[in-house]
Amino acid sequence: MLGANSNLCLNSYLAATATETHQARDKCRVRTRATIRIEMEIGGLDSNGREFKSADEMWREEVGDSQKKLDWYRNGVGYWQGVDASVDGVLGGYAHVNEPDIKASEAFLNTLLTELVPNGGRNQHLVALDCGSGIGRVTKNLLIRYFNEVDLLEPVSHFLEAARENLAPENLSVSEEHKAFNFYCTPLQEFTPDAQRYDVIWVQWCIGHLADDDFVSFFKRAKAGLKPGGFFVLKENLAKSDKSITRSDVYFKELFTQCGLNIYKLKDQKGFPDELFAVRMYALTTETLKKVGGSRPKRKANRPAIIK
Ligand code: SAH
Repeated sequence: MLGANSNLCLNSYLAATATETHQARDKCRVRTRATIRIEMEIGGLDSNGREFKSADEMWREEVGDSQKKLDWYRNGVGYWQGVDASVDGVLGGYAHVNEPDIKASEAFLNTLLTELVPNGGRNQHLVALDCGSGIGRVTKNLLIRYFNEVDLLEPVSHFLEAARENLAPENLSVSEEHKAFNFYCTPLQEFTPDAQRYDVIWVQWCIGHLADDDFVSFFKRAKAGLKPGGFFVLKENLAKSDKSITRSDVYFKELFTQCGLNIYKLKDQKGFPDELFAVRMYALTTETLKKVGGSRPKRKANRPAIIK
């Protein structure tokens, strides 16, 4: 869900965009995209001149009854069903951002493991969940090297099958102690993790598919899937895929509060092409997080806190 930043700048105020593709109606396979830009209080216009007074109004319009919601999610998944099961496919034609993406994610993850997991996670059996995993790009290039078990969750079956293949032991260069474990063909809004299974739940470039209410209820359910001291990484931005929205930083923070999550740390992605939206990584911890001792005392600046 990597998209070019064509005409919107969303990070400076409370805003969300919704993009819509009328694939089913479009027999010529030419995609039409209606971009809706809204501000929570002030409202906004979509690219067809249609007015929304608030985010609530946009959501009511898009997912306000069960049929609309069904269509929203069906269109979201429907878009990806037509996409190649390749790195270029899941990155919207930007395969070359794979490398800087993984590099920045690895640096972020390393810092978090050092600060939050006893002994930096060494000599422990670590388990991660890769949400909206696509073809397993993040797991293969990053998570599998740090975690003993990685579960993948992906609603598009041809992506998940490709992930299964990409992560088969013979296609990995890690020891037998590291494996892709469960492959769940389920969307986030329908998933409830096993209690306290995960050290880290990684959510990258897929949360834009979830309506606000499902966003909040997913994170609330998923909190119970974290081990004590476990955390989420949400890496997101931008998005210009279909039936998805791009939230601003302020908008995300409002939702994190509703989820009862603290921002422990955040970092911006560097080195992406200019035409892309900004990408931000958030490390999120639960309110009940117990700080681990670690081998050295933590500085105050490292303590979890709500960043307003
Ligand atoms: N996170 C992967 C894939 C990004 S592409 C990566 O960074 O490489 C976006 C992914 O979100 C696609 O695989 C798409 O199928 C998935 N997706 C779409 N709707 C979703 C939903 N409701 N829940 C979870 N994943 C979803």
